[in-house]
Amino acid sequence: MPRLSEVIAALDALWPPDRAEQWDAVGTVCGAPEAEVSRVLFAVDPVQEIVDEAVRIGAGLLVTHHPLYLRGTTTVAASTVKGRVVHDLIKNDIALHVAHTNADTADPGVSDALAGALDIRVVRPLVPDTTDSEGRRGLGRICELEHPLTLAEFAERAAERLPATAQGIRIAGDPGRTIRTVAVSGGSGDSLFDAVRAAGIDAFLTADLRHHPASEARAEAPLALLDAAHWATEWPWCELAAAQLDEISDRHGWGLRVHVSKTVTDPWTAHAASSSAHPAADATSAASAPSAPTDSLGAPN
Ligand SMILES: [Zn+2]
Repeated sequence: MPRLSEVIAALDALWPPDRAEQWDAVGTVCGAPEAEVSRVLFAVDPVQEIVDEAVRIGAGLLVTHHPLYLRGTTTVAASTVKGRVVHDLIKNDIALHVAHTNADTADPGVSDALAGALDIRVVRPLVPDTTDSEGRRGLGRICELEHPLTLAEFAERAAERLPATAQGIRIAGDPGRTIRTVAVSGGSGDSLFDAVRAAGIDAFLTADLRHHPASEARAEAPLALLDAAHWATEWPWCELAAAQLDEISDRHGWGLRVHVSKTVTDPWTAHAASSSAHPAADATSAASAPSAPTDSLGAPN
């Protein structure tokens, strides 16, 4: 059985902490280096329900994409939400390790996993890491579809292949438009519009797109947009990362049990389609893909 320090060293080799953005907070949040680890849980968010799951399955290490504390804190009192998380982790001998922007830009990284889930071929990073001479690391990925699809068909594929959330997939653009090239970026992607425009691709799939950047990007270029739930665009990385650790465990004969949480921690829990009684409803429905399941009412599973 490996010690935590050995497992963390393997994770740091996959996602070197010094490749994280300056503002980020990656690495080990809690955990004793000498503790033995037999079970590992991967998840997007270090929230209470994920910690409860880690306790339930007897994990000795929880690896999350999002940091627990992004800025400094002066308290981990259990009367605070995050302090409770820290208490429950330590009480149950569970270490917490974070790989965030260092996993975003890795090769393979978060957007490779997203492209893999969508079954599209990665061509190159959207914003290459200039320190990578091979040109494989960086933010986002530019991808090609094996066969062209309409925007409606591609949205349908995304809705099918990404884990289900209340939001589903929002699209902007003519649903009949042919899509051959797509930029994808797991997590909030609207800071990448300059690179997306420069790449001259047909569509951009990401999360958290805001009104003004989306509106301006649509006005400036014939670009289709697909906006998925933030959690859903990053969750495929958990499966990729778990497979990477599994392989390392096999190589070292560690016998780790590696799990991926299927708990939906996207904060949005329901979606109400707009009422057809509103005068703007015609425009809304015209822009929706008739066959894409983007307007369904529903709770996540
Ligand atoms: Zn994120």
